[in-house]
Amino acid sequence: MIRVIVGANWGDEGKGKITDMFAGEADIVVRFQGGSNAGHTIINEFGKFALHLLPSGVFNPKTTNIIGNGVALNIEYLMKEIKSLEERGISFKLLISDRAQVLLPHHILLDVYEEERLGDKKFGSTKSGIAPFYSDKYSKIGIQVWELYEKDMLKEKLQTMYEKLNVQLKYLYNKPQIDYLEVYESLIKYGEIIKDRVCDSAALLRKAVKEGKNILLEGQLGALRDTDHGIYPYVTSSSTLAGYGAVGAGIAPYDIKNITVITKAYSTAVGEGPFVSEIFGDEANELRNRGGDSGEFGATTGRPRRVGYFDAVATRYGCEVQGATEVCMTCLDVLSYMDKLYICTGYELDGKVYKNFLNTAALYKAKPVYTELEGWKCDIRGIKNYDDLPEKAKKYVEFIENEIGVRISMVSNGPKRDEILFR
Ligand code: GDP
Repeated sequence: MIRVIVGANWGDEGKGKITDMFAGEADIVVRFQGGSNAGHTIINEFGKFALHLLPSGVFNPKTTNIIGNGVALNIEYLMKEIKSLEERGISFKLLISDRAQVLLPHHILLDVYEEERLGDKKFGSTKSGIAPFYSDKYSKIGIQVWELYEKDMLKEKLQTMYEKLNVQLKYLYNKPQIDYLEVYESLIKYGEIIKDRVCDSAALLRKAVKEGKNILLEGQLGALRDTDHGIYPYVTSSSTLAGYGAVGAGIAPYDIKNITVITKAYSTAVGEGPFVSEIFGDEANELRNRGGDSGEFGATTGRPRRVGYFDAVATRYGCEVQGATEVCMTCLDVLSYMDKLYICTGYELDGKVYKNFLNTAALYKAKPVYTELEGWKCDIRGIKNYDDLPEKAKKYVEFIENEIGVRISMVSNGPKRDEILFR
């Protein structure tokens, strides 16, 4: 059985908690795209963790974790993350695809320099090097993990790469140049460090599929940040869609039967781009401070997240492009303080109401059309059965289910692993 867990929105939907929950029964958990640019927050019996690059199966010693070929592999970062878990007594199995691409020091530098150069036209990058990394990957000048063990080839490739790059560093950014030999030495060192974990993980996964193993593919960010289908150009540089799970892990698309799409009971976004149901001022501060497990602040950058009411138009679209077979709604408990709940059920633009998601320019101009529901005004944490939720809370979930057109099979009413209501 293969389940892919992905986001319906802008990311930070609570995928980490849900992945951790399913990881308990998974033989294999795979990261298939992105890099250390976004983080999952996981709270379980071992404590609270922010994972960025490691798959969420690391808390189950029986699970094999895989960093798939689609991932931007920052080896230095990975080492730090492994060490920080090991220091807290967590040991786990981790394998790395020999076809994963290695994130290089210049990717991070270019990310920083380019945002500096763009000034107020910046994209709101997390400066993890993701856009320059994927640019190199698709320009076919990147380094796959297996190349770390082909020394002569690697040296020559880096020399050519940095000849061009140093011109850019000097003349476009007016920044110090990079010595390719230093990069070479560090890559050889990193190659040795990860050597025992490197394997043809796609072949391993295809075998595991044949053997009927329980496999979880773990997505990062959400549908609206997908390079093709998201709010371009305010997107990430890899595909955040379940469909890419097949590519970024190396398995057949038809083997992915279960597409679990996560959405939060309200909306949050980190970074730039249109956000139709965004709220501001005291109203926003209150939701931001009450959100998630300790306020809505980015797991990678600590940046305050933008917050807003639930956007049913964006979420329906997110579910469609993900191909959702079921939806999990997280953070319903956060809304318990609200007198009235607002759900964005349409976008108004030039006197017309749209029910479909629009392009980036139109989204910037669109105004939200809200449906108002009564708040339930009582704490719902600790409730163990969906049926025991207050009627008004159930109405909120069921109204949204109707709007998005996909069954909401799980509702999360707290950040902990067991705070989940199955329907
Ligand atoms: P991810 O990147 O999709 O995994 O999302 P994040 O981990 O960045 O953000 C989700 C936040 O919500 C984290 O702080 C979680 O601990 C928290 N969280 C997840 N589910 C729930 C829930 O049902 N209720 C509450 N209050 N917090 C939750």
